[in-house]
Amino acid sequence: MTPSSSATHEVLNQSPPFEDVDLFALDRPLAEAVAANGGAAAEQELSGFGQHWGSADMAARGRLANENTPKLRTFDARGNRRDEVEFHPAYHELMARSAHAGIHNSTWSAEGKPAGGAAEVVRAAKFYMAAQVETGHLCPITMTRASVAALAAQPDLLAKTMPVIGTRAYDPTFAPWPTKRGMTLGMGMTEKQGGTDVRSNMTRAERDGDAYRISGHKWFMSAPMCDAFLVLAQADEGLTCFFMPRFVPDGSVNAIQFQRLKDKLGNRSNASSEVEFAGAHAMRVGDEGKGIRTIIQMVQLTRQDCAIASAGLMRSGLAHALHHARYRSVFQKHLADQPLMQAVLADMALHVEASIALVMRLCRSFDRAPDDPDEAAFMRLLTPAIKYWVCKSAPGFLYEAMECLGGNGYVEEGILARHYREAPVNAIWEGSGNVMCLDVLRALSREAEAASAVLQGLAAAARGLPGAADAVAMIGKAFRRPDSEQVARLAVEKLALLTAAAALKQVSPRHAELFAATRLAGNHASMYGAVDLANDDIRALLRRALP
Ligand SMILES: Cc1cc2nc3c(=O)[nH]c(=O)nc-3n(C[C@H](O)[C@H](O)[C@H](O)COP(=O)(O)OP(=O)(O)OC[C@H]3O[C@@H](n4cnc5c(N)ncnc54)[C@H](O)[C@@H]3O)c2cc1C
Repeated sequence: MTPSSSATHEVLNQSPPFEDVDLFALDRPLAEAVAANGGAAAEQELSGFGQHWGSADMAARGRLANENTPKLRTFDARGNRRDEVEFHPAYHELMARSAHAGIHNSTWSAEGKPAGGAAEVVRAAKFYMAAQVETGHLCPITMTRASVAALAAQPDLLAKTMPVIGTRAYDPTFAPWPTKRGMTLGMGMTEKQGGTDVRSNMTRAERDGDAYRISGHKWFMSAPMCDAFLVLAQADEGLTCFFMPRFVPDGSVNAIQFQRLKDKLGNRSNASSEVEFAGAHAMRVGDEGKGIRTIIQMVQLTRQDCAIASAGLMRSGLAHALHHARYRSVFQKHLADQPLMQAVLADMALHVEASIALVMRLCRSFDRAPDDPDEAAFMRLLTPAIKYWVCKSAPGFLYEAMECLGGNGYVEEGILARHYREAPVNAIWEGSGNVMCLDVLRALSREAEAASAVLQGLAAAARGLPGAADAVAMIGKAFRRPDSEQVARLAVEKLALLTAAAALKQVSPRHAELFAATRLAGNHASMYGAVDLANDDIRALLRRALP
């Protein structure tokens, strides 16, 4: 490292920025998890992506998009409604790069069917790397990709929108979606009186010829400059899903009136609005009264992305911590060579190894579900469990990563403060922690036979790992209890840990053993590093995490 100097002192013993790196090549657990789940052929493509997103330019865009937050322009100078949100150019560049890489659509064919092969795994690797650089813009990216699953309930609408969703162009112009080179979609479910409980939605839908007029509000509706939103509202037959474009077919602006943007803990580059619909034009998606069944197809995919993004945030925290520890000396010795810091970093590396193996295994089930009922059952049962465990573990993990950088970790010039503020939202939106646990219970009761086959498959896959047999017994017992809701967090966490150990066994059997010994067999205290790992294992974990 070249020391720089100021008038009063030389600047020494600081780590250089972790930039201009290949986020794929430096991440062996990622490359191995991608390969183990069918994505080996995409190595070159992912390396190109990793180099681009690991560049100093992209890091600067991430910083600028978060420092220069979106502005709501409700009216123009003459008092006419505008209802536009302005973003910094860096945000648009991030959107364009993600769209160019197909993160918003590459899991679909041109007709809006699952693309097949390893499309989910490869896209997930990109989403994971992009999340390490800037997470806020991924909100409209994930919603656009997921919207296709809900639009499938209305084939005529899917056929019209797919040619515009399916391009790799990002077109931020405020114009009717059929005239654009590419489009983004958002989602409006949450109202003031209830988010989880969407049945309590009060927003009304009145028939207007072939279309509907929607009146009411949404308390949270993110990415308000999307070209259209999938919105829930009460129609005559009950809660229904609607496609609400920003412009009505005659070319005028739709009656979507933004009230405020939320002042959020993190997720600053992304705008989240409070909005009112004053008789807004919308088209029905799916049957009246089937709104939840329709939109849940979309939510399943955004839940998957919450887990991928949280794993990516943790990976970034680990990489920055390890990089810093290799440069920073304390008491004449690099932090990375101090046994206690090694124990902390290696334990964190093990957590990330398991998280990435787990989310990639989940993505494989998304790839295979259309043709394989066992994988479909895996996807259904494990998506909420994995979202629960990965997303809820991220804030604590990032706090520890931040502490590895000492005071530098806590200040805003570095990325870790931003990651730390970002992390909780993935656990809250798209179904909060308890809601995920209840969803696992729902899958177990409604699709009992398939869910039980998944548990048996996991037991077989994890056989021989420390603590696995006890975990299987505990999970089975807890879910059979009449008061299973009370112990759902205990059982769902165990289920996620068991699945992580099984997934890691396919990638790196030694690390699966370490993970199981420390997490399933209970040989771990509550903090990272409070664990007894052998020196060889520590060295291997750290080498794999960052060569
Ligand atoms: C930054 C941000 C952006 C968002 N963007 C959007 C968006 O674009 N579109 C959209 O529709 N929504 C959006 N949301 C809303 C989000 O999805 C909801 O906030 C979330 O689903 C929780 O709903 P709620 O806030 O109504 O909380 P509640 O439903 O009141 O839940 C509060 C707590 O109670 C728990 N809980 C709920 N039910 C039970 C139960 N039966 N048993 C035990 N515990 C339970 C939950 O887990 C949670 O911890 C956004 C939220 C945030 C923070």
